[in-house]
Amino acid sequence: MIFIGTINVSRTRERGEFHCPSCQSHQNYRLRAKRPWLTLYLIPVVPIGSVELTIRCDSCRGNWDPSVLHLSSMAVSKVEDEQAQHEIFRAMVLFVLVDGYMEVDEVGPLGKLASRIFGRTIGREELGRLCSLAEQTEIPVNNYLESVFQRWNSEQQALAIQALFMAGSLRREMGEERTRLLLWMRQRAGVSEADFEALIQDCLQWEDGSLI
Ligand SMILES: [Zn+2]
Repeated sequence: MIFIGTINVSRTRERGEFHCPSCQSHQNYRLRAKRPWLTLYLIPVVPIGSVELTIRCDSCRGNWDPSVLHLSSMAVSKVEDEQAQHEIFRAMVLFVLVDGYMEVDEVGPLGKLASRIFGRTIGREELGRLCSLAEQTEIPVNNYLESVFQRWNSEQQALAIQALFMAGSLRREMGEERTRLLLWMRQRAGVSEADFEALIQDCLQWEDGSLI
């Protein structure tokens, strides 16, 4: 007598992060592929049927259709936006600190620029916390920009150019290093000289207009 049967074989194809609708938060997931196999004496020998893909949340163990990844792209892009905002802010603080210090009267204007970057009012306390976090990094500003700039979308790159320019202009002079960095950003962002000038003109109006 031959023992024939079937068994479901599943394995993890990839891992990633998603917005779990059940946990209502950012979680890790596994993409699991399940496929029935024909077994001979309990040994899987031939795959039968098609592969079924499932997303499993590492936290609540809930299973989801892979389309949950697309459904959550709005939430994911919000997370990415927030991350880019923090990165732009950090780049700005490092840009100011190129010559190693920050002046007390720069903090107020930096707060206004921070509110621009984050799209909401940044209070003094939060500003202080954000600044000290940014200052703690031991990464030189050029290395930092090199690491994060390409990840930003063109809007974020433009905002970064404007915020860093404004932060730099708080100093008596922009200086060689900062000028070089601004030109580097312009080139990396693929912004023409005319568009770059327009960006600068635009942010020079920030002071007069509303905060956000
Ligand atoms: Zn979950």
